[in-house]
Formats: sequence, structure tokens, C-alpha cells
Amino acid sequence: MRFVVDHDIHIHSKISGCSNDPLQNKERMLKYALDNNLKTICVTDHYWEKGIENGPMGQTYERLSENLPLPQAEGVKFMFGCETDLNRFGVLGIRETIDKFDFIIIPTTHLHLEGFTVEKGESTEISHRADLWVKRLENILSRDLPFRKIGIAHIVAGKIIKGKENLLAVLDYIPDETYERIFKKIASLGCGVEINYSDMKAFDTEGERKRLLRPYKIAKKCGCKFYFGSDAHHPEVFENTIAMYEKVVDELNLLESDKFHMAKA
Ligand SMILES: [Zn+2]
Ligand SMILES: [Zn+2]
Repeated sequence: MRFVVDHDIHIHSKISGCSNDPLQNKERMLKYALDNNLKTICVTDHYWEKGIENGPMGQTYERLSENLPLPQAEGVKFMFGCETDLNRFGVLGIRETIDKFDFIIIPTTHLHLEGFTVEKGESTEISHRADLWVKRLENILSRDLPFRKIGIAHIVAGKIIKGKENLLAVLDYIPDETYERIFKKIASLGCGVEINYSDMKAFDTEGERKRLLRPYKIAKKCGCKFYFGSDAHHPEVFENTIAMYEKVVDELNLLESDKFHMAKA
């Protein structure tokens, strides 16, 4: 059976500093779910736990939980999640509060945040960015985490390096065998692999899409499970996400059996 697009589990609210849009609120998110027959949505604001060193201030649990309780509607599961981060010292921004969230997104590709996730002036050589892609993801996968409720965010994010061609060059640089090693590990741990709307919308030509989707094709072959995330920071984004998700389902020939389901602890 073809993959049914019935969820969006990477959505920011106005509480994320980079949204700060009063219209991007929990009621609008629920409307998005109802308008598009989505059965599961999740609010995932940026998060760095209070007391963990070398992270951004302000996106604490107290701040994120201002969205609670989340509005509910029949047939929609509205989950409370977060998008944490991995700093340049390999420190993860969540520790004691893991149990407070239904779903935790971990990005390893926020490589635009100089002084936080990378050094100031860190090399933008293709080979170095590819190396960071591999090492940062392996760092996460080597941890003792509840992977059944963890998603690996935007694996082909434009934030890896400036420029579309450079991004594709980084993805090209990583050999099949390396992707296979990593994606087999992800499949065995049971975490989800995100297909991110913002990443997908940036590339149109057949040649570009082939290069952009190569990691996903390998991930699928390795048995990884996938979920969609809009990464919306403003409600306008909700107008275009579903059509793109459907396009990617076709491009990757995704089946229902390829879908990530959060397992109960
Ligand atoms: Zn992100
Ligand atoms: Zn995000």
C-alpha cells in the first residue's frame, strides 16, 4: 500500500525565536491538520535544556511548555515535542527532560550556527562539511537515547553549507558505503528519518533531485522509516507542504511499511 501522507511532526510555533509570528500558534496548527486530514501533528520548538553548557539561552522547558495544553480535535493526535541540537563540542541539548516530550527531533545539520554548532570561521570545504555530516550523526547514534521517539531532522538541509550546488556536492562526496553504514544503524535503532519540506522545495530539476534524494534511496534500502516535517515557522508554509510530500512519496516509491511509527516505551 502506498504511503499515506497523514502527519507533519516538525512544526515550529511562535515560541521559537526564529518564528516569533503570532499567527503561528497552536490553534492554526490544529486547523492545518483538520484541513488536510492529518492524523498526527507535533509542535517542535527549538530547545536547549536549562543547565546544559554552551547552548542558546531562552528556549527552555518553561518557555516551550507555554503551549500546553495543546488543543485537541477528534481524529487528530497533537503531540508535544521539541527540536534540540548538538553543539560543536558534541554536547546534546537535552538530558533530564527527555521524558517530558512525546517526540524529540535531533538535527545534526545546523552547520550555519557559527560559535554554537561549528567554530567561528569553520572550514566550508566540501570534504570537511561531509565529514561533519558523518561524525555528528554518528555521535548521536552512539548514545543511549530512547530512539523510538526520536527523529533525525533534515538530513539534506541547506544549512550544511551555503549554495545549492555546494550542498549537492557535499551529499555526492559521501560514499554509498558510508550512507549504508549509518542508515543500517538508524534502522536498527528505530529512529525516524525526516523528509523536510524546506529541503525538498529548494530543488527542481531531475538531475538535482536525483542527487538530493540519493541518501534517502539508500536509507530506504537499509530499512529506515520516514516521516514528513514541514519545519514551518509561518502559516503560509502550510499551503504547499502536502503536494510536496505526495511528490516525494512518488519519487521514493514510499509504502505504508516505510512509515515511522513512534513505538510505546
Ligand atoms: Zn532545524
Ligand atoms: Zn526546525
